[in-house]
Amino acid sequence: MRHYSFILFYLFCNVFIYAFQGSLWVYVACFLAFSAVMVWGSFAIELGYFVKSITHKRTKIKEVALTFDDGPTEFTPKFLDLLKEHEIKATFFCIGKQIEKYPETFQRIIAEGHSIGNHTLSHSNSTGFLSASKMTAEIENCDKVIKKVGNIQTDLYRPPFGVTNPSIAKAILRTHKTSVGWNVRSLDTIIDDEKKIYQRVTKGLKKGSIILLHDTSEKTYRVLADLLVFLADKKYSTFTVDSIINSRKKMIKNIAFGAFLLVSGFFFAQNTAMSGAEAKAFVSKVSADTKEIKTLQSDFTQTKKLDFLDKSIVTYGKMSLQTPNMLSWKYTKPYQYSIVFKSNKIYINDQGKKSSVDAKSKTFEKINKLIVGSSNGTMFNDPEFTVTYFKNGNYNVAKFVPKTSQLLKYIKQIELYFPKNQSTVSQVNMTEASGDTTNIVFKNTKINASIPASEFTL
Ligand SMILES: [Zn+2]
Repeated sequence: MRHYSFILFYLFCNVFIYAFQGSLWVYVACFLAFSAVMVWGSFAIELGYFVKSITHKRTKIKEVALTFDDGPTEFTPKFLDLLKEHEIKATFFCIGKQIEKYPETFQRIIAEGHSIGNHTLSHSNSTGFLSASKMTAEIENCDKVIKKVGNIQTDLYRPPFGVTNPSIAKAILRTHKTSVGWNVRSLDTIIDDEKKIYQRVTKGLKKGSIILLHDTSEKTYRVLADLLVFLADKKYSTFTVDSIINSRKKMIKNIAFGAFLLVSGFFFAQNTAMSGAEAKAFVSKVSADTKEIKTLQSDFTQTKKLDFLDKSIVTYGKMSLQTPNMLSWKYTKPYQYSIVFKSNKIYINDQGKKSSVDAKSKTFEKINKLIVGSSNGTMFNDPEFTVTYFKNGNYNVAKFVPKTSQLLKYIKQIELYFPKNQSTVSQVNMTEASGDTTNIVFKNTKINASIPASEFTL
């Protein structure tokens, strides 16, 4: 969103020219330069002129993302065969109308573990001239087709032709999408010579590159065949775009883990191997005290440092817990976002947009089991973490390191801070496998105060 600051700059230039009594042609030249920047900004997605798009992943390892636009088409199954053969997952930005034409292919893309992004309903040639409401409809109607045919939702959006402008920026905001661009453009729909396309892609490749291709021709299929050999040769691994930016899912995951940590803070004691008399005393006190906890309410401040953002994200809210299995996290600032865990379901209110997830779905099954299990203590018969204890001035600290590779994929370590002489957690520090860190500080904690039922509804 550099557009508005540039307009200010343009106005300033005009004032400047006026002050120095510039002649008419200076105004005209200034206006032309302004227009040129606008046009350039609307076509060059990597500039982030109107919309901040993800164009690459910040990473230290050799990995790239393959993205395919404009499908599914009659050629897509061949692409899928090839990707399967190389055990590579890609991201497909699909057009709604194409999904309606090739529903089975679309379902196959999902079934084979690739990620899906929204590429509008009709990929209209006049995309750049549509109003914000027409653009919003284009995106929402594509979402509907994705939901109907594939029974999934996606946060990812790729602008057709990479075009962005103020209307498109508004539509992206309204539909809560994350805009995805690229930093390696194959031009596979424009260039005929396969070798040239291959060279363009391989020459520009960097760690974390997002490559734009189209699953719309035999030609690109052959380029892909060579490209996959190249990637294997140069020892590049691949990632899907949602793995970096699926912020909503990431948030849910964090909340859920945060919740689990907080709750598990009460009970971890019972089953962890203890070291030293101090740890023993601390642990037994915490478990004795927390046995009496029926409800718990606390304000929290969450600070999250994401790998792909420069700034940290600070959010505020309130957490409520009622044993055995009701839990709510309500973010109040800077945006409204609530998540409630109740009787095997997860309810979400995302700024007025309500949805629910069956906790039996794969992603949440484990988390739910942990939460419910931790409130009755059963999960610690099968501990997932190695726990060590520390003292530091004002705190007793329990450090959790996952034992299973499954959890290690997400989490490197978690630290729970207990103020001296207190049995509830006041602070959680979590380091994810990706290097992202989350710090949650709890304040105004109330124990066993009655919590109105409205806290557990959206
Ligand atoms: Zn396209």
